[in-house]
Amino acid sequence: MKAKNIAILGSTGSIGTQALEVIQANPKHFKVEVLTANSNADLLIAQALTHRPNAVVICDESKFQYINDVLFEKDIKVYAGKDALAQIVAMEEIDVVLTALVGYAGLVPTLNAIDAGKHIALANKETLVVAGELVTAAAKAKGVNIYPVDSEHSAIFQCLVGEWENPIEKIYLTASGGPFRGKNQEDLAKVTKAQALKHPNWEMGAKITIDSASLMNKGLEVIEAKWLFGLKNEQIDVIVHPQSIVHSIVQFQDGSMKAQMGLPDMKLPIQYAIGYPKRLPSDFPRFNFLDYPTLSFEQPDKKTFRNLQLAFDALEKGGNMPCILNAANEVAVDAFLHDKIGFLEMSDVIENCLNSVFFIKTPNLAQYQETDTETRRKAIDLIG
Ligand code: NAD
Ligand code: MG
Repeated sequence: MKAKNIAILGSTGSIGTQALEVIQANPKHFKVEVLTANSNADLLIAQALTHRPNAVVICDESKFQYINDVLFEKDIKVYAGKDALAQIVAMEEIDVVLTALVGYAGLVPTLNAIDAGKHIALANKETLVVAGELVTAAAKAKGVNIYPVDSEHSAIFQCLVGEWENPIEKIYLTASGGPFRGKNQEDLAKVTKAQALKHPNWEMGAKITIDSASLMNKGLEVIEAKWLFGLKNEQIDVIVHPQSIVHSIVQFQDGSMKAQMGLPDMKLPIQYAIGYPKRLPSDFPRFNFLDYPTLSFEQPDKKTFRNLQLAFDALEKGGNMPCILNAANEVAVDAFLHDKIGFLEMSDVIENCLNSVFFIKTPNLAQYQETDTETRRKAIDLIG
């Protein structure tokens, strides 16, 4: 069997670097075709020298010369800028595009990759939050598969293998609850950036770590699940499971529930997404029951963690509301990370944007782009 040629968008991040470890451990199955990064030139160069892709893209154009000076003589093509990122995904040699970049920036490259007929291993959940209907319709029209990388969605997908004819009654997305589980609003008003950046079970990029602390990550995942699995809103529920061992659960129409379990390690869902339908052998650490004598479950506290409620509200209203939610959240998280607003103010910014940015029931791509721009403007205004 020929090795799959993989393009990794966002190779210098948490998911990107773990994907490279998976690929390196399975040279018969995977080959790196393209690597891209926002601005970390040195890591991109080091990755290119190790993995010998056909081409790399750096979004920050000021880094082009620096990278090209090293990679040109190694016969690795170097491109720079947002447009190059959007175009590279159509390269003929690519079989699978792993979207491991963060935020709204994933939307256009993902749509272009689908348009070029490339299968998608999707880590970039924001793309489905912003324009899930558009993206999944495009994938269907092109006969392209979207393999989830997000651990909860990978769990659901793994539970569904062999069940394609059996309708889903309900899914439960598990949530660790993050570092502030059990805290009240008064506590949350005082939490610091450093505390929010310390996730109990997962090591991830800064944006998703803050989203996990505010439970926005779970809200985004509810919307992601709707589009990935074609569900009605009321078929999706969230259950807090602090140990992060049960990665999510599907309930079928006979009442039977299937769950996927394992230690929290993103390499497994990454490998499953790019290796599907094969389960490739791995040396990832194995689960030991005696290390986890208790697996527990509790209701999420949507009153204290308002972001989760706001995400459900946005999903219920539909149209461009999830796009507004996402854009406002990206600006709010960035402001929190730069000490411009407190933890709870993130929800204020998002709620305000949801209530004030124009509503569009069935947006096209241009309207999603306008919504994103308008929401960012509004959110930046609010933050001051
Ligand atoms: P990260 O911040 O560690 O890495 C982001 C990568 O994207 C970097 O390579 C960066 O150079 C690139 N990038 C950032 N902004 C960009 C832009 N504007 N244009 C182009 N490239 C850009 O993030 P991460 O934790 O690896 O997360 C990546 C995606 O995967 C996110 O959508 C996140 O929600 C999702 N995800 C991550 C995890 C995890 O464990 N880290 C788990 C599930 C889902
Ligand atoms: Mg997840």
